[in-house]
Formats: sequence, structure tokens, C-alpha cells
Amino acid sequence: MSEHLTTVAGVAVDTRHLIGGERVASAGTFTDVSPIDGAPLGEIARGTGAEADAAVAAAGAAFPGWAATPRAERARLLEAVADGVEKRLEELAVVETHDNGALLRSHRRGVLPRVAHNFRFFADRLLKLGHGDFVTRGHSQHVSWDPAGPCVLITPWNAPLLLATWKAAPALAAGNTVILKPSEWSPLTASLLADIATAAGLPPGVLNVVQGYGSEAGAALVAHPAVRRISFTGSVPTARRIAASAAANLTPLSLELGGKSPLLVFADADLDLAADLAVEQYDNAGQVCLAATRLLVEEPVAGEFTRRLTERATRLTQGDPRDAATDIGPLVHPRQLEKVDGFVRRALAAGARAVFGGPRDDARLGGLYYPPTLLTDVAQDSEIVQEEVFGPVLTLQTFTTEAEAVHLADDIRFGLAATVATGDPERARRVTAQLVAGTVWVNCFYVRDLRAPFGGSRQSGVGREGGDWSFDFYCDLKTTVTAPNGWTDHA
Ligand code: NAD
Repeated sequence: MSEHLTTVAGVAVDTRHLIGGERVASAGTFTDVSPIDGAPLGEIARGTGAEADAAVAAAGAAFPGWAATPRAERARLLEAVADGVEKRLEELAVVETHDNGALLRSHRRGVLPRVAHNFRFFADRLLKLGHGDFVTRGHSQHVSWDPAGPCVLITPWNAPLLLATWKAAPALAAGNTVILKPSEWSPLTASLLADIATAAGLPPGVLNVVQGYGSEAGAALVAHPAVRRISFTGSVPTARRIAASAAANLTPLSLELGGKSPLLVFADADLDLAADLAVEQYDNAGQVCLAATRLLVEEPVAGEFTRRLTERATRLTQGDPRDAATDIGPLVHPRQLEKVDGFVRRALAAGARAVFGGPRDDARLGGLYYPPTLLTDVAQDSEIVQEEVFGPVLTLQTFTTEAEAVHLADDIRFGLAATVATGDPERARRVTAQLVAGTVWVNCFYVRDLRAPFGGSRQSGVGREGGDWSFDFYCDLKTTVTAPNGWTDHA
């Protein structure tokens, strides 16, 4: 077997970059480690500025041909990529679980089918994309969606392939070429996607994958002057660095960032539903950007709601994410574990009370497994309420009036999502109108149609992707105005 292949649960994964249709190694490598048991998964190419330059050059060279490829042919190739994802779904699911520790059953049933759907959805959407045509004083005006050029896509580890393809599918559909830089904590499925795209017949250089650290490969890619779009999903501090690099070239940016979303539980809510919604926030060990980690509960029902949530949370099974009975797997990395535990310890030291869970107890769990935790007696201006923990940690605060609930929900620098549990449709309308969030759910959570815009307000993001909003971002819109009888007048 080639020294550049690693085998993860029987699946061979190339550890190199894919640049211009060729597998390319780097002088250096980094070790990818499984969060399940700390086992090394492979030595991954550690990209630098040289590989970033080569990838942008390859994407630039492939761009005119791909941009000129008829829409129907681009759509056909994206459908072929979706077919390839479906064909290798089990392999992708197993590798993703080993790499980021999320549940295998979630990858099989929900995440990977959605990855294929990302390609099918945007292939279909491309064929339906309108061409706004107007006539003004006899002048015809034609709006076209022109591809922009090479796009850099930078993604995090909590849903690696889902987030990568949510960006890559519309970028490619629009006629752009792509350089994908996955997280160094979960680099493997991007490499499998590169294989799938090649096998599907995507021309060389249309989809490139550069592996490596954010501060090296990532930083070089986002600073490159030939890049026409940067789409980033990740944390706020990294977004600031990327935005500063993009500013030098005025490269258009889309930023999907962190959150600290509220779940508002009113006394008129179905409390079982509310407790079900709350316990869902521990999914993926809380490593979900949209997670409603701030429980805001109306005073009279707070005791009963807490009782029902505690009952559900203590029934959750923690352990190996490959096991079908497991509800909560490990955190992704020792650094993430330390970060989460630090937040909890500081909150407890500041006077918070753990209803259940944290802090970390190595004797009980060990590894990267962190107990689902509920903290109460927390102040609105405290770190644990205001900052994103990105682990299985919820806070609970109470309110007495609707106005207070809305105030607590909105009194934060984030605005990614919000969830409202209420039995009163009028209240739902009033409250949702006041919440600052990219997505608001009423008596449900996580349901999302790819036609809808997705993104965050305030520091949870800049811009929206999804449906035609993705094409807005990945295209240069052009208006062509033609004079009446323009041809004969000038003949
Ligand atoms: P991160 O910001 O640490 O890293 C994200 C990516 O950026 C990685 O690929 C990393 O290598 C790269 N990167 C780091 N420094 C860079 C630089 N200077 N230049 C270019 N690239 C660089 O985030 P993370 O820890 O991987 O992910 C967790 C964060 O992502 C959380 O804040 C979470 O809320 C957020 N997130 C948001 C969404 C959303 O849709 N809004 C979805 C998932 C995750």
C-alpha cells in the first residue's frame, strides 16, 4: 500500500492534497487522531503557502472551461457526485465517525444522505435559476448569474462533509472552481470527496482539496489575491482574521459563525415537548452551532420543566459513537475538552449550581467524554451565559414576563438561532418577531429546507447562504441593457 494511503475501519483514504487533478504530498505532515480512543488515523499532508498557491493556480486554470460548461452538463456532473456519495455512504459514515467522534447512526441516517442531497438540490436549483428580464423605455435589461472564479471554502470539524458540500455544491453549480480546506481535526472525508468527484468525471482543477492547519494553509488561501470568494464556517476569532486578510483584496466573504441560542419555554407550552427539545441540545455532544444552549423558562413551570429535562438527560447513554445504543459520543479533541471543562469550572466557581453533570470526572468517564451538564443560578452577564461553550453544557434561567424573556434572549452578541416553546400562536408571532436570529423555530428544532436562507445575525455571521441566496453569493450578477433597435440604428 502507498505510504500516502491510510486505512480507517477498512476504508483507504489518501492523505495528500488534490491539486489540479493530481494527488500532491507536502514536505511536512500532521497526525490525525480519533476522538473515540486517541488512536492515530493517519499522517496528513501539512499544506503551506506553496500548496495554497498551486491550488489557486489550478483552480484558476480550470475556471474558464468549467464556467463555459453548459448548465445541464454541470448539473449532470453534480448528480454524478451525489450518486458517488450515496454509493460510498457507509464508508463515508464510518470514516467521519472515526475522525470527529459524532454518532455513526446519525451519519448513516441523517448527515450523509443530506450530503448527497446538497449536490442534487443545487444541481436542480441551477437549472431553475431565472434570468430576470425587464424592459425600460424600450431598453431590454437582462440579468445574468456569471460565475465568479476560484472560491476558497474553509470548514470546521463538527459536521465536516455536510458543511463542506453545503458550500461546494452551489459554488460548483454556479460555474466556479473550488479549493476546500477542511479542519485539521477532521480532514479525512474531504479526501474521500475528492476521490468521488474525480470518479464522477469532474474535470481536473474544478475541485481541489488542500489539507493543513488554519494558520498555515488556511491563512495562505484566504490571503490569495486571485481568489474571488471566501466562504467560512467556524469561530468568531478565526472569522476576524479571515476578514482582515480578505480586506486587503476586497474578496467577498460569507461567514457562518458561532452561536449561543436560546430556547424560550413559556408556561403555556407542552412541557414534554419542551423537555424533548431541550435534551436534543446535547446531540453531537453539544458541538452544534445552532444548539439552543440557553434555556429560558417561565418561573411557574421551571421546577417541573427541570424535573422532566433531568429525567431525560440522565437516561442518555454516553460512549462509543459506533455503538447504535449511544446517544452522546466524545468531544472532538483534548483541547475542546479542556475548553468545555474550563467554562464549567469557572461558572461553578462564580456561583453556578450543577443540576446534573460537570465538571469532568475522569474516574467515571475518561477519554474525551464529557457528561451532559445543566447549570443554573447563572447571571445574564456571566461568561457561561454570554460565551459559546460548544460542548454538552446548557444553562437555565427563569423569567416572569414575555418582555423579560425576549430581553434575556436578545441580550447577547450572537444571533444564529432561537427556539420558542409555547401553546399560544399569538404569543409565538409576537415573540418571534422580536428575536434577533437567522432561524427561529416554534415548537420544533433543526428542521430546515435548503431553499430557505441560512446564516446568523450580529456576530453569528455575515451574509446568508441557501437556495438562491447561495447563487447570489457565488455569482457575479450582471445586468446587460440593450437599446431599442440598437443594432439597426448603428448599422
Ligand atoms: P475554527 O474557527 O477554529 O476553525 C474553522 C476552520 O478555520 C478550520 O478549517 C481551521 O483550520 C480554519 N482556520 C483557522 N485559522 C485560520 C486562518 N487564520 N485562516 C484561514 N483558516 C483558518 O472553528 P472550529 O473550532 O473548527 O469550529 C467550531 C466553530 O464553528 C464554533 O464556533 C461553531 O459555532 C462554528 N460553526 C458554525 C456553523 C454555522 O453554520 N454558523 C456551523 C458549524 C460550526
